[in-house]
Amino acid sequence: MSENSFKSIRNGAVASVIAGIVLLTIPVLRGYVVSVIAWLWSGLVWGWEAMLASYSLPGWLWLLVFIFATIGVVNIYITVKGEQEEPEFKKYIEDFIYGAKWRWSWSGNQVSNAWCYCPRCDATLVYDDRSCRSFHSTVRKTDFICENCGHSTIASITGGNKDYATGAIIREIERRIRTGEFKQH
Ligand SMILES: [Zn+2]
Repeated sequence: MSENSFKSIRNGAVASVIAGIVLLTIPVLRGYVVSVIAWLWSGLVWGWEAMLASYSLPGWLWLLVFIFATIGVVNIYITVKGEQEEPEFKKYIEDFIYGAKWRWSWSGNQVSNAWCYCPRCDATLVYDDRSCRSFHSTVRKTDFICENCGHSTIASITGGNKDYATGAIIREIERRIRTGEFKQH
């Protein structure tokens, strides 16, 4: 085996692994996937021709090349698949829940920054959970009030304070995702 052919195989294997790792970490490189696949294909064709021309590389080297190439291809496949299959629920960012309009964002697969708005005028609601701190009140609840609509109570969630209420909303959002109700939204 000439030194040149060994070098090109080694460089090819290294490039394939690096390409796989880079594609895993930097999604913007997806455009290069096609050219990398083409490169891998030409590498395979070259390898086949080299075998036919009986350069006869040692078996372990072929195994090594095969393993590295497989890692590269699998990484590319995972990257492309992962990007294409952005879960449908990520587009679900507002709904009418317990009397108010709630909006939120996604941080990974977690609901974050959930807050409520007035269904009539879309003003940001303010909360009042004083009942949770009062010794005399019998009901623990959080009221959501629209200052723009004459300080009227738009929604009321019983059971606890503001953190409890937003937690209840997040649980309701997750429930609607599990049952598929969010798709009717
Ligand atoms: Zn309002």
